[in-house]
Amino acid sequence: MKIIMLGAPGAGKGTQAKMIAGKYGIPHISTGDIFRANIKDQTELGMEAKKYMDQGLLVPDELTVKILLDRVAKDDCRNGYVLDGFPRTIPQAEVLDKAVEELNESIDFAVNVDVKDENIIKRMSGRRACLKCGATYHIEHIPPKQEGICDSCGSELVLRDDDKPETVKKRLSVYHEQTQPLIDYYNKKGILREVDGSQDMNDVFNAIVAILDGADKH
Ligand code: ADP
Ligand code: ADP
Ligand code: ZN
Repeated sequence: MKIIMLGAPGAGKGTQAKMIAGKYGIPHISTGDIFRANIKDQTELGMEAKKYMDQGLLVPDELTVKILLDRVAKDDCRNGYVLDGFPRTIPQAEVLDKAVEELNESIDFAVNVDVKDENIIKRMSGRRACLKCGATYHIEHIPPKQEGICDSCGSELVLRDDDKPETVKKRLSVYHEQTQPLIDYYNKKGILREVDGSQDMNDVFNAIVAILDGADKH
């Protein structure tokens, strides 16, 4: 199964993508996590991506597409994957379509996790991330067992540089301009599905599972 998660920054794509990956036994691929891991290791790619990420801008398509295509070509992607944060522009979506078509395969669903902008700003200021394993928490809604420490790997949790309110506002405007058009793009292909992302995390997940398991009748 090949799934794309759509939604504004902070809508809960990553949270849901991890749960989907766990239930269906497919890898969770987050371009943001790949960039952050590269920044942490101070690779050339990481340093290049950081210039854009810190300003709330998208990393150029050329760079992003290469990383994604390398990742989905790996063996563990043979039975599918859940993409979180890719595609974010129409050209990225077109490259992905082409790559999937070349394998005579197709994307099953693009799931749009819908949350209003006002709620996003609140969510982001409470987000805490583990830069080691990619886990995310929320200080109020989804707290770690021990404050400031990752449940999965024991590393220290941080407020991402780009989760400060000024940068979040910029990211939201970039989202509306460059990423939101993908909703229409996948709707035209007949694979768009919408879920209300303002519900409790488990209710959002149940709605997604109903879609993926084909119980969704629209
Ligand atoms: P969020 O989950 O909050 O939306 P991500 O971790 O997906 O954030 O992305 C963080 C940043 O990484 C983005 O603001 C952007 O700069 C960069 N990035 C991640 N994925 C892409 C992509 N597909 N295209 C361009 N830039 C990307
Ligand atoms: P995205 O990947 O779309 O940027 P995340 O999955 O990282 O979003 O979620 C953003 C923040 O909101 C995180 O702090 C996360 O723990 C929290 N969160 C995710 N889903 C929910 C939910 N349904 N209700 C409340 N908070 C949530
Ligand atoms: Zn961790």
